[in-house]
This record gives sequence, C-alpha cells and structure tokens, in this order.
Amino acid sequence: MIIVDNENKGQIQQILNIIKVASLAFPAIALLQYSSKHPDFLSTITHEVLIITILMIILVIYILWIFVQSRIPNSSPVKRLIDPIISMSIALLSIIMTGSYTSNYKFLFIFVILFTSIECSRTLSMIVSALSAVIILTVDLVFAPRADVNVFFESDIVLACVFMIIAWMVGYYDDIRRKHIASLKNLVNIDGLTGLYNHRFFYDFLATQTRLCKERGEPLSLLFIDIDNFKYYNDIYGHQKGDEVLRILSTLLVESLPHNAFIARYGGEEFAVILPAIDEKEAVAEAEKVRLAVQAYPFAGQESLPGECLTISVGVSTYPSKAKSEAELIKGADDACYRAKFLCKNRVESYFSILDELHFESEIISQIKTFIAIINAKDKYTYRHVERVVFYCNLLASQLALTEEDRRNLIYSAYLHDIGKINIEENILIKSDPLTPEEWRILQQHPQLAVDIIRTIPSFDVVQPIILHHHERYDGTGYPDRLRGEEIHPLARLLTVVDAFDAMTSIRPYQKTRTYTQAMEELRRCSGTQFDPDAVEAFCQCVAAHNSIGGDRCDKVFLPYPPKDSDA
Ligand code: GH3
Ligand code: MG
Ligand code: MG
Repeated sequence: MIIVDNENKGQIQQILNIIKVASLAFPAIALLQYSSKHPDFLSTITHEVLIITILMIILVIYILWIFVQSRIPNSSPVKRLIDPIISMSIALLSIIMTGSYTSNYKFLFIFVILFTSIECSRTLSMIVSALSAVIILTVDLVFAPRADVNVFFESDIVLACVFMIIAWMVGYYDDIRRKHIASLKNLVNIDGLTGLYNHRFFYDFLATQTRLCKERGEPLSLLFIDIDNFKYYNDIYGHQKGDEVLRILSTLLVESLPHNAFIARYGGEEFAVILPAIDEKEAVAEAEKVRLAVQAYPFAGQESLPGECLTISVGVSTYPSKAKSEAELIKGADDACYRAKFLCKNRVESYFSILDELHFESEIISQIKTFIAIINAKDKYTYRHVERVVFYCNLLASQLALTEEDRRNLIYSAYLHDIGKINIEENILIKSDPLTPEEWRILQQHPQLAVDIIRTIPSFDVVQPIILHHHERYDGTGYPDRLRGEEIHPLARLLTVVDAFDAMTSIRPYQKTRTYTQAMEELRRCSGTQFDPDAVEAFCQCVAAHNSIGGDRCDKVFLPYPPKDSDA
C-alpha cells in the first residue's frame, strides 16, 4: 500500500510541478510579449539580455522556492501558504508590468488556484480565489481611468466568478477523491472476519511506528497472541463456532487494551498488538490483562478443551531494550510466544535470550546468533529443537551445579550441535518416510559437518569434541567414532540425553510423540546401552523437579509440552 501511495503521490506531485512551472513560465512569456510590443519598455537592454535575465530570475525564484519549502516541516501550516503567496505575488507583478488593468495576463491567478485546490484544502483554495478576484478588481478600480462605466471592472467580474467556480469545482473533486481513497484504504487494511487490521497493514504500521519511536526516543512493544488448542476447538465444534470465537476474542482485545494499541489479525488464530511508547514491563502487564480477560470469558463449549477453558499464549518483545530493529522485534515476540506455548500455554512470556542472560563474550554470541539465523532460515524445526535443547541444558547445568565454564561449553554445544544440518539436503531433513541406508549415511555426517564449520573459529575449539560425539552411544555402537563410556566427553553424554529427550517429545511426522513420562521411561530403558546412566538420572530428576513446580494448574506447570501425560 505504501508503494501504491507513493506512486499516487508522485503522479500528483508531477501535475503540481507542471502547474507551478507554468505559473512561472507564463509571467516570463507575458513580459517578453509585452516588451516586444512596447519597444520603450525596458528599452535600455537588448532583447537577448532581457530573455536571459528573465530566465535567470525564474530559475532563482524556483530554486529559492524549493529550498524554502524543504526547510519547513511538512506539518507546518506556513508551508501550505508559501506556494500561493509567492505565486500570487508573481502573478500580480506580471499584471502590473504588462499594463495593469489592460493586462491580458490576469488569468495567471488560475494556476495558483489550481495547485492550491489540488495540494491544500478546498477552504484555502476558495480563499485564494477570492483574494485573486479582489486583486484584479482592485487593479481595475485603482489604475483604470475614471469613467462612467469601468469596462475593465465589468469584464473582470466574469473572470472573478470563473476563479471561484474553478476553486470550488477542483477542490470539491479533490475532496471526493481523497475520501474515496481513504475508504478504499480502509477496506484493504481491515480483516473481514474480525474487523481488526490485517497482516499487511500490520507491517506498514509497525514500520511507521518504529521510525517514530526511534525519532522520539520512546520504547515500542509488540505482543504476539496465539489461541491455545484452537485446532482442537475447531475439530470439535466446526469452523463457524471457531469464527465466532475469533470475533469475540477480537472484541476482548479491543476492550482490554489501551486506546492507542494497534490490534491486527496476524494469521488464522494469531493476533499482533503494537503498543507505542510502552516499555516491556507495562507491555507484560497489558498482555497479562488480556490473558486473564480471555481466560475469564465463558466461551461456548470451552469445557471440552484441555484445562476446560479457552486460553491464549502471549509473547512480548520491546524495542529498543530487547530488539534493535523491526525484524528483531517480530522474531523476539514470535520466539517469546513459542516459549509461552512450550512452557504449558495460557501464559505471557517476555523475550530473552539465554546467550544474553549468561553474559558470554560478545564476539562468540554474535557468531552463534549468525549460525542460529542460518538454521532458522533453513529449517524451522531444527531451530525450535535447538532452542529447547539449550533450555534443557541450562536447567541441567543448574541441576548438576556445573562450573561456569562447563555450563558455557554445554550451552555453546547445544546451540551448535545441529549446525551441520545446514549442509544436508532439506528433503532428507523433513522426510516423513523411513530414510534409505544412503540417506542415513548422509544424515550421520552432520556432527562432522558441524565441526568442519566451526573449526575456523578458535573460541569453539573446546566444544568440538562435544559436538562431534553427541551421537556416540555409551555401549560403543554410535557414530562417528564408535567411542564408548568414559571415552565420550562428559558434556557430550549430557547433550546426547537432552537431544534424544527433545526428539522423542517433539511432534514429527515420522514418529509418535511421547509424553514426558514416556520419554523418561525410554531414557531409563536405554540407560547403560545408548545413554550414560548418570546423565539419564540427572536429567530425569531435572525434568521431574521442574514438572512438579506448579502442581497440576495449567498456568504454572513448567514442562508438560508437548502432550501432557493425561492426553496420551
Ligand atoms: P497451539 O495451542 O499450539 O497454538 O495449537 P493450535 O491448535 O491452536 O495451533 P495450530 O497452529 O496447530 O492450529 C491453528 C488452527 O487455527 C488451525 C485452524 O483450524 C484454526 N484456524 C486458522 N484460521 C482460522 C479461521 O479463520 N477460522 C477458524 N474457525 N479457524 C481457524
Ligand atoms: Mg497458531
Ligand atoms: Mg494456536
């Protein structure tokens, strides 16, 4: 829409420029014609000099005109008045110099009226036309010789009427055009089902608001809201009932959020809210207000949903404290919303990065962020998987009271362990049928490929064995080096368990997703063969400890996502 808008503004500006140039060129022609008919007019200078002088004067006036305009802010009312004032002065001067009341160039005021009608308001163009009429009639009255009937005055009354009619007609037409464009814009920007703004306009608005907040030095917060288990609701009650929920939810959003909040339907059952001049703390409070309002609303049929109520998860990100650009703001809110889902839904999560929290060396952090961005672009599943593995590894490091150095190396490894997958074909990574032996061989190269990628970065030397051996098995039947037991780096043995746990509990097309209890049973079943028994025990204790934090209240339980054991 911004492109179409700019194109439209550009075309109108072209018309205005032509009218403005004409309003300068005609006075020049007028002076030339007059001087050729009246040889005594400016008789001391030759014709050529006169032409060049007039052209130079026009050029200087035009450049000054543009310069003065560019110096005045768009919002200033003075800016709108400069063009008409200059053009009217030039027209008046030309008329006086070309015979005042006898001048044939009184029509020059029409140019001023035309561009004022197009560029400014109808009221201003009516004022300009009235002033122009007064000017030409006054010239007739003041300069024409006294007579019973002032014929110049009489004929110029007609011209004065023409000025008024042109101003009214062009101004009225422009008003209609503006209103029509405004209503079309509104239609293009609004989501038909909910009446909120749509995805496309969200991006336009976010770009404008980020720029404004940057200029004013104010924060800007973004909320991403996703309805929990909405597919399930649709499956039970059908899409019509689902649509009704979307409409009610939109009303709840409008009622709960501040008046200056910009609310858009971002996707099917996802909403985005832009909160200008609101910092992270206030944004989280606003998000919490909305979450509680949705939780409290008696949606029809919500008793069939998990938790027996329809809820939302909200991700919050704030510029500039958590994001330095629009893209980072969106990614931050999306990541935070994802974490809210991951941490059992019906909650508000604010964006944070473990990398930022742990105060690692900034150079290493930026390297890791680059790698994460590459994974994210290539394979969303791997990106989310990496995020969860980092999250678990951080918990496990605390559970085992690892040294700061070990914690750091475990987290680096967690971030980088699947980086080798960026060199593996996508159809192997996302294949839902069982892999062929050749495809397995290719996939099994990913630890070595990861090490090949990070080998050039000296700071990552220490994590190379952890990444290389995170698919070794405790009984020596893993890959790539078939190491066994204590031969495998201790942090690699931890990473193996976490990696496997997340793979078992994630939703993948080729496997049945396990619950947390089932996944822990599986880890224990393979303890001593595939996994280091100590690592399994430590991780299971870690999961159990966090799982019991909030009892069975949905909004506090820490880890039962994906499926709760009761869903299995
Ligand atoms: P989660 O809690 O993880 O968000 O699960 P979910 O089921 O809400 O999320 P998922 O993204 O799997 O499904 C989104 C569902 O939203 C799919 C579709 O049935 C529903 N949906 C999307 N657009 C519309 C719409 O315009 N009308 C209706 N009734 N349903 C929609
Ligand atoms: Mg969704
Ligand atoms: Mg959803």
